[in-house]
Amino acid sequence: MLIDGHLDLAFNALNGRDLTLPLEALRAADPVADETATVSLPELRAAGVRVCFGTLFALPHGAGSPGGYSDHAGARAQALAQLDTYHRWQDAGLIRLLRSREEVVAHLRGGDDATGVVLLMEGADPIRDADDLPFWTERGVRVIGPAWGRTRFAGGTDAPGPLTPLGRDLVQAMRDLHVTLDASHLDDASFWEALEIGPQVIATHANSRALVPGNRHLTDDMARAVAQAGGVIGLVFLNRFIRPLPEGSVDPVPLGELAAHARHYASLVGWEHVALGTDLDGGFGAEKTPAGVDRYMDVPAFLNDLPAEARDGVAGSNWARWLTHRL
Ligand SMILES: [Zn+2]
Repeated sequence: MLIDGHLDLAFNALNGRDLTLPLEALRAADPVADETATVSLPELRAAGVRVCFGTLFALPHGAGSPGGYSDHAGARAQALAQLDTYHRWQDAGLIRLLRSREEVVAHLRGGDDATGVVLLMEGADPIRDADDLPFWTERGVRVIGPAWGRTRFAGGTDAPGPLTPLGRDLVQAMRDLHVTLDASHLDDASFWEALEIGPQVIATHANSRALVPGNRHLTDDMARAVAQAGGVIGLVFLNRFIRPLPEGSVDPVPLGELAAHARHYASLVGWEHVALGTDLDGGFGAEKTPAGVDRYMDVPAFLNDLPAEARDGVAGSNWARWLTHRL
């Protein structure tokens, strides 16, 4: 059994990918250029994924994304379209949205009829303000990462800064409504301020800054803080997050180098806090994944580079324990 802490399923669907197809058929009809797809819903099931965290990810306006949002209304529209996509997949019996630990327990006990999806908002700009949080929780959002780059709520990747007043209000409301904080993408200043407020915390997709510089990755102190709060950290299968590489690099990186991130985390906080957060469909394709990972079904090969006693936990049981006790 695999559990993946981070996939951008609906974002890909809104980019025109039909994720209901087997991967070969998706690739044959893929409208996304320059990124060889590695993820589809049948591919996840064939690989043994029982649950994943599925994002609502609104893409901001920028050089590489002229169609992205430039205000809250634009971000909200993107997230609502993605939410609708998850609901259509659920209506078709392809996925099952999981909103509570009880639903996770029932899902994991039941047959392998659909992939469980925990809704995770990556970048909080679709949320107007703290008073708008219940709108999203009522629709199933259980985890929120306030940042991606900078948002109205927080400093983020390559955009340093603390929580904004809106961000402090949002994290307080998350704590009060039992919505988990995803620490991935938070700049250090925002990270420490958010943890001080005391929400439940995980890092759905974040490698180690001890091995790759930059504020996208967790320092040792951050990893310890996530683990001390009972959280789990998901490992990202993107080459330039495994070894320092320029952004466009397609140099092959051995899969075993990702295991170094896993072992480093384990040395700090123990294997029970280390898991998968592949992000395999997060704006990159097989060109930028580790050698030997051409498609999602290759993900389990990663486990061979880990100590035998750590494999089940990293594959899925560490996320399963968190989901069944803390979601
Ligand atoms: Zn991300």
